[in-house]
Amino acid sequence: MNTSTTVIDPQPEHAISARGLHKVYRADGGDQVHALRAVDLDVPRGGIFGLLGPNGAGKSTFINILAGLVVKTGGSASVWGLDIDRDPRHARAAIGVVPQELNLDAFFTPYEMLEVQAGFYGVPPKERRTMEILERVGLEDKAKAYSRSLSGGMRRRLLVAKALVHNPPVLVLDEPTAGVDIELRRSLWDFVKELNNNGTTIVLTTHYLEEAEELCDHIAIINRGSVIAYDDTRSLVQRLDNKELRVTVAQPLDALPGALSRFTVDLPDDCTLVFRYRTSETEVREILAAVADAGLVIADLATEEPDLEDIFLELTREATDHA
Ligand code: ADP
Repeated sequence: MNTSTTVIDPQPEHAISARGLHKVYRADGGDQVHALRAVDLDVPRGGIFGLLGPNGAGKSTFINILAGLVVKTGGSASVWGLDIDRDPRHARAAIGVVPQELNLDAFFTPYEMLEVQAGFYGVPPKERRTMEILERVGLEDKAKAYSRSLSGGMRRRLLVAKALVHNPPVLVLDEPTAGVDIELRRSLWDFVKELNNNGTTIVLTTHYLEEAEELCDHIAIINRGSVIAYDDTRSLVQRLDNKELRVTVAQPLDALPGALSRFTVDLPDDCTLVFRYRTSETEVREILAAVADAGLVIADLATEEPDLEDIFLELTREATDHA
């Protein structure tokens, strides 16, 4: 395809599409690291998409390939319908990436920083919308302030502004609320929703299941370079309805009573039974009734919601079982 005649579809079906995307890094000792293994993934246009996964799962590699910062080993990918091999320039222009770190050049003002970024992307001075973007992220008052005087929340918003200078239809936020307090997290969530309402497709990586549930309409979970779950958020959360019930019994046990063997249960110490169950399949009272039927006296009870870590463990186990 000749890039000079590229026609950009204003409404492609997918904001991002990957097929068989593969990345092998060569580590220092010469070992191969398979960071992505044949990833097929479609990010629908217009929504907020969550890319979840533990550290080292391959999230940054995926994003950096799309943004033209890492060269893939195999497979294909497109951003806004633009193939990253055939049309790298347009594909790169269709995506803005907001990095995780808050490093800003302390001696530039926000205004200057956006102008430099626009120059970097080749946006001609006449087409720059520097003040408009600063207004959009609520930093118009700080246009001429030193960046080092900005608060953490303002810095994050300035980084978003930087990623918006070339007006990309897809914005990727890497762990947008890592290490921020609850109040700021909520205000950043509102901000992300607002950007999305204004028409930008958002992709965010996060460790926080709560954040993904609050913001994302679709979620992919990636682990060891493979997509192990992909669904709309509601279905995924329902699927991950596992809970833990910790029962402390009054008398020490030698072994698990046989009557409880129909449950998934562990005996981490002789007075504690840990039941893992799905709320869609088992009710707490069934477990409690079985404990009472086994002649045990309950001294204490606690339930625990699964966190992302449990979910990864469970999904990874499922993926292995089905392999
Ligand atoms: P995530 O963003 O989910 O934490 P990454 O994409 O950063 O995951 O990393 C995926 C895997 O690739 C990890 O095992 C990581 O150590 C490895 N990796 C990432 N970048 C490099 C690199 N430049 N050289 C060698 N290995 C790398």
